[in-house]
Amino acid sequence: MRRAAAPIAIQPLGDVPLAQLRLLDRILERTFDAATVVLRPIALPAAAYSSERGQHDADHLLDLLFPRLPERCLRVVGVTEADLFISGRTFVFGYAHLTDGMAVYSLARLRESFYGRASDEPVTAGRVLRAVVHEVGHTFGVPHCEDSRCVMRAVSHLETLDALATRYCASCREQVRGGLALAPWSARGRWERELSLTRRLEWGHAEAHAALGRDDD
Ligand SMILES: [Zn+2]
Ligand SMILES: [Zn+2]
Repeated sequence: MRRAAAPIAIQPLGDVPLAQLRLLDRILERTFDAATVVLRPIALPAAAYSSERGQHDADHLLDLLFPRLPERCLRVVGVTEADLFISGRTFVFGYAHLTDGMAVYSLARLRESFYGRASDEPVTAGRVLRAVVHEVGHTFGVPHCEDSRCVMRAVSHLETLDALATRYCASCREQVRGGLALAPWSARGRWERELSLTRRLEWGHAEAHAALGRDDD
């Protein structure tokens, strides 16, 4: 891919090991040919925590990320150790809306230890790669894809995540490429950002989902 028009921001949510931030940095650099900016970590908001579930609400985290996207950055990717859910789903590996430039993923269920197995860093790294490339694809407006060789196939369980391709099919790739080339300070880039802001202020995130087709993983 051509060099991304602007950096992608990395936002640690709570404590995230340095090795995981480095891994994310490498994935963004290699997959999107994008520079990265690591933002100062922010604490997980208590309001996002469901004590009933023992999980954090991924939608709340996206709300938190939205005003933190630096103007000069293309996208923001949040990473957390906290296990995530969204309304209607018992858990998600990651989450992103199709229009407002933010994605978040959780390391919790990407580790073998979560399933009571011995830790396996290469396996975890492969899952992080798939989750990140998939969710960032959504931030460029790419919906789920039927192509079995495409990373944008819908994911519901660990098995489907592990079986996921690590690349975009040609048509998804084309859409991502278009988004990567669009500088946030260009007229079109500014217009798109204004539009997502308006959408959030006027509709709230739940309605925006309904209108745009929600993504659940
Ligand atoms: Zn595809
Ligand atoms: Zn998805």
